[in-house]
Amino acid sequence: MIPIAKPLLGEAEAEAASAAVLSGWVSQGPRVAEFEAAFAAMTGAAHACAVSNCTTALHLALQGVGVGNGDEVITVSHSFIAGANAILQCGATPIFVDIEAEGYNIDPAGIAAAVTARTRAILVVHQIGMPCDMPAILAIARDHGLPVIEDAACAVGSEINIDGNWMPIGRPLGDVACFSFHPRKVLTTGEGGMLTTQDAALDAKFRLWRQHGMSVSDRERHGSSSVIFESYPVRGYNYRMTDIQAAIGIAQLARLPSIIAARRRLAERYHEALAGLPGVTPPREPAWARSNWQSYAVRLSPELDQRIVMQRLLDAGVATRRGIMNMHREESQMDLPVRFPLNNSEFAQDKAILIPLFAQMTTEDQDIVLGELENAIGAEYPQAKAG
Ligand SMILES: *Cc1c(COP(=O)(O)O)cnc(C)c1O
Repeated sequence: MIPIAKPLLGEAEAEAASAAVLSGWVSQGPRVAEFEAAFAAMTGAAHACAVSNCTTALHLALQGVGVGNGDEVITVSHSFIAGANAILQCGATPIFVDIEAEGYNIDPAGIAAAVTARTRAILVVHQIGMPCDMPAILAIARDHGLPVIEDAACAVGSEINIDGNWMPIGRPLGDVACFSFHPRKVLTTGEGGMLTTQDAALDAKFRLWRQHGMSVSDRERHGSSSVIFESYPVRGYNYRMTDIQAAIGIAQLARLPSIIAARRRLAERYHEALAGLPGVTPPREPAWARSNWQSYAVRLSPELDQRIVMQRLLDAGVATRRGIMNMHREESQMDLPVRFPLNNSEFAQDKAILIPLFAQMTTEDQDIVLGELENAIGAEYPQAKAG
């Protein structure tokens, strides 16, 4: 069986976790601080604040830019459900706009029409690792004086070219970027998240909110030679990352360049092999983007049945996933307003399939996937096999 994804974890992560346990300090402490510093250095962000996962990161980011009761946040339906849930958690309403016809990211052209007097922020997603068209998004946001939050859950190690310079996703071009370290993403700490920002005041808020709104951290109290009484100036949450997770994260960050290089090599091989295959369209990478290929999505021709193709692949030992979900189609979100057509979003969910891609994947594994994909669509496209 070839899995859809597989985290790259080894002795380095096991030793780092073991050292954290044996140090006697396992909750948010020195290793979290070290992971934050390393993450800020990797992304070029001025500040990085670690939290328990990306969903809590999104909640703090939205609250940080002022999203609250009765507000609207413009975002996509075509994304993981955590996006809408984080907006709803703030007492606000997600306003869904469509994605581009070819890719899987927000269509900047749809944003301006969605702005109302209640709009408080724009939440864009670098979907499956592919950077959004940030210059176009930021131009619209500036026109309307709106903050931009980047859901970079899948985009660690992806890069975008701005004015001729390549930069990693994460030194936010908007106001805040939010990352996930779930094992389905490119870098994992089991569970974990990170907020990056250039704004020191925002970063200070995140640090208060993630630990109950408490004025001093455990680490400061333990390290102090004089008695400290903590206070609670604001209401907060417990959104902390543990030092065990952070230790794993530090080891993972050291591997990141080789993980990204391997993923990009495999993606390149997929592009070449799939270019001539009828019935499928490989993903396109704009000249200004370098994806980490967190997922590799191929689009099936309209006449191909997604479930049948996926079942044939599963029967042949190749795991796949359907295209990214549409939140507005899920029972829990059915009461949300749908003000704009979401045809591209629905089409992408119904006609894309994600095929296996992970750093340890061999070219033999990849050839099996390619051969079985040809077989799976071969009945409808005999020329695919002949070719
Ligand atoms: C995975 C994911 C999330 C949620 O991340 P968690 O760390 O599991 O909370 C949010 N948004 C997107 C786009 C994701 O892919």
